Amino acid sequence: MGTPGTRGNEQKVMAEKVTSALVDAFLLEQLAEWEQARNNFAALSGVKVKEIDVDGMTVKVQFNPARIVSSAAKVDAKSLKERKCFLCAANRPAVQRGIEWGGHYTILINPFPIFPRHLTIPDNNHVDQLISGRIADMVSLAGDLKGYTVFYNGPKCGASAPDHMHFQAGNSDFLTIGKILEDAELVPLQVESDGEAVLSVAQDLPLNMFIIDTTEAQAAQALFDRLYAAMPVPEGEKEPMMNILCYLTEDDEVRIVVIPRKRHRPSFYGTEGENSILLSPASVDMGGVFITPLEKDFNRLDADIIRQVYDELCLSDEEMNAIIEKI
Ligand SMILES: [Zn+2]
Repeated sequence: MGTPGTRGNEQKVMAEKVTSALVDAFLLEQLAEWEQARNNFAALSGVKVKEIDVDGMTVKVQFNPARIVSSAAKVDAKSLKERKCFLCAANRPAVQRGIEWGGHYTILINPFPIFPRHLTIPDNNHVDQLISGRIADMVSLAGDLKGYTVFYNGPKCGASAPDHMHFQAGNSDFLTIGKILEDAELVPLQVESDGEAVLSVAQDLPLNMFIIDTTEAQAAQALFDRLYAAMPVPEGEKEPMMNILCYLTEDDEVRIVVIPRKRHRPSFYGTEGENSILLSPASVDMGGVFITPLEKDFNRLDADIIRQVYDELCLSDEEMNAIIEKI
């Protein structure tokens, strides 16, 4: 428990088996002892939400003033060097405890939530935000955290700490992607290990994405590796740009949603000028919930603007086909 001056890395809950029930109880404990987090989670119940139909697909828009910290985050190399990393155990507030997971990750509550249940899951080491070799971890984590969607934002795809590897997770029923994909047509592309993992592409959605359905983490990793190798790496980047969402389905399979990206932020991104909108899309936005920290932007967001986001940030059919041909 939070002894003042005790460092975060010395306050871990040791658990035999991490489950969503254990994590839910941990969230409540943290809210009871951490005022800032409690206030931010409580404020969520008052945030405005609206629904927009984009070509038959339902997305939500959330007006969330507290998220300005993330949406306006400076993630250039100089700014990162000058700030203390908020995901390193040594810099975390004393009150923030964690649950050890997978040998080298720690499950934390996110003090700037979007979801009613929102977690941040950093690696215990300050290493770059890169997904290479970590899909098996994501699948295992989603398997343990039933009811949560685990997600990954590439370093130029919405991550506000691109210098420290981390996943996030939030309660799945908040996002619309699960329902969207239940209704979507998936075209299978490749099968791994006698069907333990199947790679598909979703058809006729306003944004393009790949899906891996799996019952086995290593088979998913092998299939993801082939997809990863086929995706373009922009100049100056260490890996292909993408958002990934991953969750356990009703059928006890893990579904991995890979949304390839070609751009960090939309052309209208900003706070200055009449036509600028403070929108820095990440996995949550691509998963069906657009987050706007400014009320004027919340009011303005409509299907046309969201279509423009997909067109500018996500891949065209031709760009998807170029990847498919290489897999
Ligand atoms: Zn760090």
